[in-house]
Amino acid sequence: MAKYEVIIIGGGPAGLTAGLYTSRAGLKSLLVERGIVGGQIINATLVENYPGFPQGISGVELGSLMHQQAVKYGLEVVTAEVTDISQGQLYSISSTEGDFEASAIIIAAGSEYRKLEVPGEERLAGHGVSYCATCDGFFFRDQEVTVVGGGDTAITDALELTRHAKKVYVIHRRDQLRAGQVLQQRAFAEPKLEFIWSTVVEEVLGDKILEELKLRNVKTGQHSILKVAAVFVAVGLMPNSRSFFNVVDLDDAGYIITDESMATSAPGIFAAGDIRRNSPRQVAAAVGDGVTAAKSAFKYIQEGGNGARITSP
Ligand code: NAP
Repeated sequence: MAKYEVIIIGGGPAGLTAGLYTSRAGLKSLLVERGIVGGQIINATLVENYPGFPQGISGVELGSLMHQQAVKYGLEVVTAEVTDISQGQLYSISSTEGDFEASAIIIAAGSEYRKLEVPGEERLAGHGVSYCATCDGFFFRDQEVTVVGGGDTAITDALELTRHAKKVYVIHRRDQLRAGQVLQQRAFAEPKLEFIWSTVVEEVLGDKILEELKLRNVKTGQHSILKVAAVFVAVGLMPNSRSFFNVVDLDDAGYIITDESMATSAPGIFAAGDIRRNSPRQVAAAVGDGVTAAKSAFKYIQEGGNGARITSP
């Protein structure tokens, strides 16, 4: 079984930064990523709030640069899904590409899109139902589309979609947006945007492709039908922590509980980025978490596996 000093699970900004720091500190490090290295930022056309890039940088480019930098210092990367973690003298990680052992683990597996969980959504995913406006918006040029959600992602997506679509509806379950003020101001000034307040999607309708949405006004209970070519679901994220529930303590929403050193309830297992409780879910914050987790893992290994366990989550 291949042995490492540190195994990092997840190849977004938190994992890649942790890998850069552990490798650069001379620890034999492996990063396991089930999909494309770079994490959620690869869906962002332009990242405007990562320091050092005053003109902004595309998410794909930023992810790729972080990957290159970590590999340059010796980080090994494997494409595989972790299926189990068990503890003996070292931690054993089972994955779809075989088993690995490590003294310390950094979980940086991020989060995934939350679904509406209404009839028709799953069946028409990829056929008018999308979770990535940046990836799919282009296909709906000059058509009428809708975004569901009232957070930063929903409003950013809606604004981006106005570049392609004829009209963009934003369906939000309340009558106030959660998104930041700057985005709100931009959205309210955009003539192609129309808000449908206090409304939820009850069903996604269509035979082979999305044709219309069945809506319900939560205040009046009234139903209506909206004909659109696409619905972009932007109702938040869920932590990718399903594989770790029996290994580390999670909060009620499934986020991993850590202390300020990124230590979890299991000695030698650290968590970083969007997957941990109270993460600000920003690239710069994930990078910071990665640094902290890497330094804590280094200290844990140097001290022979003592400490680095939170006692009161
Ligand atoms: P979010 O802030 O959690 O917002 C989710 C939105 O979806 C909320 O408006 C919520 O409604 C709504 N919602 C949740 N479940 C729903 C359901 N089942 N049906 C209908 N609506 C539902 O998620 P996010 O917008 O993806 O943002 C995630 C994080 O990334 C945030 O911290 C955000 O600040 C950050 N972010 C930042 C930027 C940026 O430009 N700086 C861009 C994107 C994301 P309620 O408001 O009623 O709860």
